[in-house]
Amino acid sequence: MLDLSRERNRMVDVHISRRGIHDREILQAMREVPREAFVDPGFEEFAYEDGPLPIADGQTISQPYIVALMIEMAEVRPGDHVLEVGTGSGYAAAVMSRIVEHVYTIERHPGLAETARRRFDKLGYRNIEVRTGDGTKGWPEAAPFDAIIVAAGGPGAPAALQEQLDVGGRLVIPIGDEQDEQRLLKVVRTGAATYTEEDFGGVRFVPLIGEQGWPENGDRTVTDRLTRTARRLPDMIAAAAEPLPDFDDPAFGELFDRFADRRVVLLGEASHGTSEFYRARAAITRRLVEHGFTIVAVEADWPDAAAIDRYVRHRLSPASFDPPFQRFPTWMWRNTDVAAFVDWLRRHNEKLEPFRQTGFYGLDIYNMSGSIAAVLQYLDRVDPQAAAIARERYGCLTPWQNEPSTYGRAALTDGYKDCEKAVLQQCRDMLARQLERAGQDGADLLDATQNARLVASAERYYRTMYYGGSQSWNLRDTHMFETLEHLLEARGQNAKAVVWAHNSHIGDARYTEMGTVRDEVNVGQLCRERFGDEAALIGFGTHSGTVAAASDWDGKMEVKSIRPSRGDSYERLCHDCGIARFLLDFSRDEGLRRRLLERRLERFIGVIYRPETELHSHYADVSLAQQFDAFVWFDETTAVTPIGPEHAATGVPDTYPFGL
Ligand code: SAM
Repeated sequence: MLDLSRERNRMVDVHISRRGIHDREILQAMREVPREAFVDPGFEEFAYEDGPLPIADGQTISQPYIVALMIEMAEVRPGDHVLEVGTGSGYAAAVMSRIVEHVYTIERHPGLAETARRRFDKLGYRNIEVRTGDGTKGWPEAAPFDAIIVAAGGPGAPAALQEQLDVGGRLVIPIGDEQDEQRLLKVVRTGAATYTEEDFGGVRFVPLIGEQGWPENGDRTVTDRLTRTARRLPDMIAAAAEPLPDFDDPAFGELFDRFADRRVVLLGEASHGTSEFYRARAAITRRLVEHGFTIVAVEADWPDAAAIDRYVRHRLSPASFDPPFQRFPTWMWRNTDVAAFVDWLRRHNEKLEPFRQTGFYGLDIYNMSGSIAAVLQYLDRVDPQAAAIARERYGCLTPWQNEPSTYGRAALTDGYKDCEKAVLQQCRDMLARQLERAGQDGADLLDATQNARLVASAERYYRTMYYGGSQSWNLRDTHMFETLEHLLEARGQNAKAVVWAHNSHIGDARYTEMGTVRDEVNVGQLCRERFGDEAALIGFGTHSGTVAAASDWDGKMEVKSIRPSRGDSYERLCHDCGIARFLLDFSRDEGLRRRLLERRLERFIGVIYRPETELHSHYADVSLAQQFDAFVWFDETTAVTPIGPEHAATGVPDTYPFGL
């Protein structure tokens, strides 16, 4: 048999050591493993050139220097358990097997896997297990791994592989358009849901083909012309980003025409106090209303939004009505951006038949006392006897109307079972009334019935809130979704809705920690499950600026500075792309979409912002391209301007809902 040990030592000295690989374990392993045993017959004499060589099934044995580099990047140590994706000839697995305790290696071509298996047997390498299959899904039964090396180039780091890393584990993978050069990426798992990423420069590999890699059909041109030259993720985002014009420019809304054929378009926000998010949603909604959307359903309490609805649809307000949105957080809807949109909607509706008008509805359940009052007010007017019964039924909730969050504790005692029954009975009565009087009393009856539904949901919500956990969240979001369904039904067969709510309600919960860790569902998920492709989920994000928020629940509104986004977040990728404001439509670039499946942090600011504990309080792990269908970006944002007492004196109509 040919003795090539001299050539092997020379290769290690010249091509590996002198090029900067100094890890003694790696150098020793490469002196030991006979590379000539891993090349096809006839290629032995080239085994110690520093280049890749062809093997069966159109694949290659990797260049020795790259094998050494990847093993060094993966920081493999004695005692480690390592996964390799792309066994190929088996050479890299053999080298690693001389260093670590156990190597698991997966190859998609059965012939290659079998040849490699025979080679390991022949050489007596017993700590290597070979499997035929799609390595992008990893090897879950053997996880977690201290290191994972992927020997083929994929569009992104597969989520399954990242999840199969131990904390502290390293994944090394070539990423990018496989027809061209890729970047060698190192991903380190730093915590249960956190990862860091480092780029080690250009390489060239055969494609990683599989569920979380490239498609098998040989069509590698899924990435467009621009992304082929832009391989860094921020560059890929820049190439796919569609810059947004001014809010008042009709071109702003027109960019969203692609969603006009959907049944529901859900528009998120990354905080409840950012002006740009409201103005963008207003511009998009104005355009969608022109396309025939007649429902604007927002994350506001039903009875409060009903006051706006009466205003925008030129309907009479009840003789006595409390100005809406008086409870914390008032700035969320009582702000100048919402007021401007509301005025536009009123003008839009002015000359239209009622059924063509666009209504403004609230999906949320917090204003239980407002809903009780609205049910009673309606019944007082149309059926005083029924009003007396309803008053009695709601009586058991009265002590908690102003502080419903304390209701849960009281509801633990048996006496309150009756309360649940009473509010449910009232809800059923209102539904029966709605059926009986179908076609009459239209909007007023819909309003009262929805309020009765809301009281029943709110009673359960506050009861379950006492126990904590996901149940009360799920109840709230299910109520919001069902309200949307009722609205679509009530507004006619082909009715279409725009929804405005926080990203946490809009982005599909299954692809965020809400679903994966806390078992929570949300409006976005329920819409996808119900409407499929007829639902568009659009998230919003920002890097820095100011936001209107409180420090504690019920606290006063402050204008706070938003910290620049974290280096390991999706926001930072958007920031690094260098475009100030844009729409990113994931369906336009399959290569980018696949890369945005990777789990990363995303920032969620609600009505409370605590920059001091930002990571813990506001960031969560998500897969952006699964959470949303598109993302709207404003790099620098500003706080909303709340509407204060000065609005009482501006000569607006008596019915103006924001008058104080
Ligand atoms: N480590 C190998 C060596 O040193 O010989 C080099 C492997 S070659 C560059 C890449 C291999 O990855 C090919 O054999 C290819 O069939 C395989 N491959 C591509 N996609 C795969 C997938 N999803 N799962 C498993 N193997 C895959």
